Amino acid sequence: MKDIDSPVDWQHGKGETTEIGYVNRHGQKCCDYYGVPGTDRGQYAYKIECTICGYVYGANASDIHERRCPESQGGVPGIKYWRIIKTR
Ligand SMILES: [Zn+2]
Repeated sequence: MKDIDSPVDWQHGKGETTEIGYVNRHGQKCCDYYGVPGTDRGQYAYKIECTICGYVYGANASDIHERRCPESQGGVPGIKYWRIIKTR
């Protein structure tokens, strides 16, 4: 009684949700990160792209698997994933 049409099972191991190209169940795609710390301790801010509306925002690595788009899904506002270049 096995469903042979089922897609590849995402495993719940470490690092699975931070792979480039990972898309979570809300259609949010993990793109990349630039070494910018997120708002959670020890987390990096990743660039996330909404595959539904195209909105791009930042999220903590630990949040990616359940992140919702701030624009089209009522998710919490994105965080800055890009590096701030300071001028002296
Ligand atoms: Zn969206």
